[in-house]
Amino acid sequence: MDTTEIFDKLKTLQDILVQKYDLENKIEASPKHLQSQDELLSRLKKEYIEHSAEFDAKKDEVNRLKYELQEAEASRERGEKGMDTITTHREYEALDKEIKDATDQEQRIRKDLQREEKNLAEINDRLKQDEEFIQSQEAELASGRESLSLEVGDYKAKLAELTAQEQETNTSIDQEIIFKFERIIKSKQGKGIVAVKGNVCDGCHMILPAQFANKVRSGEEIVFCPYCSRILYYQELDQDEAEYFHVEETGSLADLDTDFGEDELDEEEDEVLNDSADESGKDMMEYDE
Ligand SMILES: [Zn+2]
Repeated sequence: MDTTEIFDKLKTLQDILVQKYDLENKIEASPKHLQSQDELLSRLKKEYIEHSAEFDAKKDEVNRLKYELQEAEASRERGEKGMDTITTHREYEALDKEIKDATDQEQRIRKDLQREEKNLAEINDRLKQDEEFIQSQEAELASGRESLSLEVGDYKAKLAELTAQEQETNTSIDQEIIFKFERIIKSKQGKGIVAVKGNVCDGCHMILPAQFANKVRSGEEIVFCPYCSRILYYQELDQDEAEYFHVEETGSLADLDTDFGEDELDEEEDEVLNDSADESGKDMMEYDE
């Protein structure tokens, strides 16, 4: 199999792998949005238990007050009945005080009871609301789980399809190349094979050494970009691109400075300095006129 054929297969494989990794990511991420719903639900349930305990305690309190009220009522009624049988003024005073105390007590308890019964009703309402909310959340979560499992099932079916296609495509290619290729696609999120146009890697846009670019051009072996590790294939430039890359290339090479010796560099700097001096001189003259 020649390299052109391998490149074509790698491009096909790339399309498959990109879709495959995308699906794998989706499968991994999909339960996460249910997780927050799940957390909300457990918090609601915990609060419901707390409110239930509060309700029970309040109910006991109300029952206690009801009992105390009965006691106070009975005590007052006993006093009132006793009034019929008293004989002395002292007895009257004692009984009168007993009745007054019982009445006060009765009123106080009645007030407390009213307040606590109101509280109890409020807690009861809240519990009912909690209950309804929990039920709706549970229903929502259940339907979320159901659609998730359908979705994941769908993803998995597509994934199996892609894996079959992948295996079909990569059989005749060196496994080491496949391994590197897969890793690049995973880490660079997309391209594992890119063109070299005018000595520039189309993946990372770095200028490749001329000799290296020639090696890519020859197409005799599979080569990886020394900068971004992507597999490279050669692609001729069209007219516009040729002009573009020509400009880019000369500009970048001058910036590299690697081929210049110290002397040449100094000369160049001097020239730049002289140029600007000339220019400012010219400006001055123009200014004088
Ligand atoms: Zn590159």
